[in-house]
Amino acid sequence: MGQVHPPFAFSAAVRVEAAHINAAAAPFCAVIGAGPAGLFAAEVLARAGARVVIYEHKPSPARKFLMAGRGGLNITHSENLDRFVSRYGAAAKRLAPFVRAFPPQALRDFCAELGEATFIGSSGRVFPASFKASPLLRGWLTRLGKLGVTFALRHSFLGFAQDGALRLRGPDGHEFSRAAGAVVLALGGASWPKLGSEGGWVGLLKAAGIEVTPLSAANSGALVRWSPIFRADFEGQPIKTVLLRHGEATARGDMVVTAKGLEGGPVYALSSRLREAAKTDGATTLLVDLRPDTSQVCLARKLSRRPPKQSHATFLRRAGFSKAEIGLLREAQPEGLPRDAEALATLIKNAPLKVSGVAGLERAISTAGGVAFDEVDADLMLRKMPGVFVAGEMLDYDAPTGGYLLQAAFATGRAAGRGAARYLGLLDAAGQAGLSPSHLPNSRAPEASNKYSV
Ligand SMILES: Cc1cc2nc3c(=O)[nH]c(=O)nc-3n(C[C@H](O)[C@H](O)[C@H](O)COP(=O)(O)OP(=O)(O)OC[C@H]3O[C@@H](n4cnc5c(N)ncnc54)[C@H](O)[C@@H]3O)c2cc1C
Repeated sequence: MGQVHPPFAFSAAVRVEAAHINAAAAPFCAVIGAGPAGLFAAEVLARAGARVVIYEHKPSPARKFLMAGRGGLNITHSENLDRFVSRYGAAAKRLAPFVRAFPPQALRDFCAELGEATFIGSSGRVFPASFKASPLLRGWLTRLGKLGVTFALRHSFLGFAQDGALRLRGPDGHEFSRAAGAVVLALGGASWPKLGSEGGWVGLLKAAGIEVTPLSAANSGALVRWSPIFRADFEGQPIKTVLLRHGEATARGDMVVTAKGLEGGPVYALSSRLREAAKTDGATTLLVDLRPDTSQVCLARKLSRRPPKQSHATFLRRAGFSKAEIGLLREAQPEGLPRDAEALATLIKNAPLKVSGVAGLERAISTAGGVAFDEVDADLMLRKMPGVFVAGEMLDYDAPTGGYLLQAAFATGRAAGRGAARYLGLLDAAGQAGLSPSHLPNSRAPEASNKYSV
């Protein structure tokens, strides 16, 4: 059987602080998945007095959260809460109570408590001062350790046994079952599977009669077949402040050229449209406006003052266009750039790129689909599986990039943790802690034999 490890070495002081929790008497709660949703559920449960073990099949916690940190960790957004909630589209109504109960400011306060101040960027997005996830995660794991939360890393959740116990596989391949007073499932979606969330839970829950909306890639890069020369020269280069158009929809921001196409906020924002259109028609056209703040008329006027013999490259460079932008215009019009100022301005405002599809789940930022909201109650407990709660990207929501995904993971992790604590009798109906865990019928933790002690 596997060992439960603290997320890091406890110091003596930490052990003393954790001693107030009567580990043997407290009800046992298993959290599956050490992403932000699972960690937050664990914190809430531990604070309510539960004995919490987080089972995680990767060798370390929160790998996707750390990866999000590589892009600066856009943790939430500062816009008005009504507008914020509307970003979840079809799931907005279902997610609203959770996000309102733990709104963006609460998440910023949580970061500050962990020693990581946040700031609002020019776009309204909120980032930690370090632009990284690792300092925040380190502080958080320290705090979870102080609260007595332990980790069973390299432990895979395999499903539920007939009697409702968890089926788990430890690092040595040994399978065992573990009965828990409550379970929080926070296994994530299925994007970037190499970071841990691979959607293996879908079949398990469907077999138990739970409705799961099929998982698909969301916030994906657009696939564009670049010419070899453009790809060789500009892969990894940013193209700043563009406006992308697809049909009626527009999205503005910075994008990056990749070997297979384009990535970045505005591309992700249009990705579900691009995916659907490319699926129907084999390919679709994305229009790029390289100068969204200049009207076509002004641009044409500016471009008309061109010395007769000057090359396109020199002329456009002097007019302020980057080499990548000029390259992109050539990709959009491979038969050659027009010399006529009007036509050139039209191309700069509407450079057509042929998009053959969007990147799959292996590189998508998030996953659309998941456990249908009709399957869970107001505490995020599965109606068909009392005592089993669901949090984070496993749920059927999606949102654009901008901090909405992490905010939802935190808010639903908190709600599921509180729901599980209430189910265990650790919180009263008003959500206040107060009942003594030692008086509860299921207070014997399954690891009372000490097999899981730190
Ligand atoms: C490259 C990238 C950048 C991102 N940037 C941002 C951003 O800037 N802002 C933002 O809001 N969002 C961002 N996201 C999205 C955000 O990271 C996710 O929405 C968030 O991590 C979801 O949290 P979660 O806890 O629900 O799931 P996850 O973080 O996916 O955690 C699920 C955990 O469950 C574990 N697990 C899965 N199956 C099992 C099993 N069978 N047994 C045991 N453990 C299991 C996994 O290993 C994983 O640790 C980004 C995502 C990616 C891929």
